[in-house]
Amino acid sequence: MAKKMRLFIPGPTPVPPQVAEAMARPLIGHRTQEFADLYRRLEEKLRKVFGTQNEVYVLTCSGTGGMEAAVANVVNPGDRVLALVTGKFGERFAELAKIYGAAVDALEFGWGNPVDVALVEARLKSQKYKAVLATHNETSTTVVNDIRAIGELTRRYGALLLVDAVSSLGGIEIEADAWGVDILVTASQKALMVPPGLAMVSVSPRAWEAINEGRAPRYYLSLPAAKKSLTKFNTPYTPAVSLFAGLDVALDMILDEGLENVYARHRIFAQATRAAVRALGLKLLAPDACASPVVTGVWAPEGMNADDLRRLLLKEYGVLLAGGQAQLKGRIFRISHMGYIDAVDLLGALGVLEIGLQKFGYPVTLGAGVAAAQAVLAGGGQDV
Ligand SMILES: *Cc1c(COP(=O)(O)O)cnc(C)c1O
Repeated sequence: MAKKMRLFIPGPTPVPPQVAEAMARPLIGHRTQEFADLYRRLEEKLRKVFGTQNEVYVLTCSGTGGMEAAVANVVNPGDRVLALVTGKFGERFAELAKIYGAAVDALEFGWGNPVDVALVEARLKSQKYKAVLATHNETSTTVVNDIRAIGELTRRYGALLLVDAVSSLGGIEIEADAWGVDILVTASQKALMVPPGLAMVSVSPRAWEAINEGRAPRYYLSLPAAKKSLTKFNTPYTPAVSLFAGLDVALDMILDEGLENVYARHRIFAQATRAAVRALGLKLLAPDACASPVVTGVWAPEGMNADDLRRLLLKEYGVLLAGGQAQLKGRIFRISHMGYIDAVDLLGALGVLEIGLQKFGYPVTLGAGVAAAQAVLAGGGQDV
């Protein structure tokens, strides 16, 4: 039998059949009223999920392209930028700002720890920064950062706040306007349940002031060009039309379920996964207080290579877990429960994980992890 491919990686995530169906429809031209109507609908729905009254630009590129758009349009050579680094994606944001000539101070909090807001305040007090770069959900370490608290500080100290919400938007609450996020970046292939290829970027009036003074080179990722085209609900260059159509349906699914319900579902799945991991006697990567609701990181048992375990699960069961990145490679595995994952998917993945652990000689009482997850799901979780 051909194996079903089951993605439990933090992007690309499984695509709902109704989203796939929308993308399979005959293409429409992008310089048509039909496309303008589609982009207008996306705009209205995206603003709800972003928590913003500002415009959201849909760019045809991956999430990193959206991060580059944020940096390239705001940062001028020589600008002082504070990068809050809690893992690989925080490092990427800092690197991007360096490439564009910023004088970057990177505050490193260590892999597995969240941003310490007191340290950020001390930095902002001691030195004037044009912008602060932060990661909302640090996918590499499965840690969530307190963007609301960081936003209070950046407003108080007059710095712009640029946030990578690539793996959080649509799965974890974020309020761009209320929290003072000046540029919020996300992408299609994570909690938004659409294949890779779109980045979405919201821009505050404060950020526009900086962008309009921008001197760094920008062309494909020019936000002024995106803004000009949006007046006609169009894009400067050919957009990924099919992905726009898929996103239209995916956003309907999210808004029909209700944002609060979507966020609660992700939190409960994280609790169920964490309960299972504990019941199996394994160690979680992130402490409870900053644990991601959309992806759970787990230390492999002593002496077991996490990537060997992952390979077995993929080969035998078609279950793809994510590995560790950089210094965590081979030492951890990550179970993504963002987007179009349901209780049956999650219990199945935990069930075969137990078999895999046992095959590698780790002592498992089969069903112990699944039972712990079931108990959380049956009780609806202790929603926090
Ligand atoms: C996936 C991810 C990105 C990068 O997105 P690409 O689409 O691979 O370019 C950036 N930041 C975070 C936090 C991510 O999880």
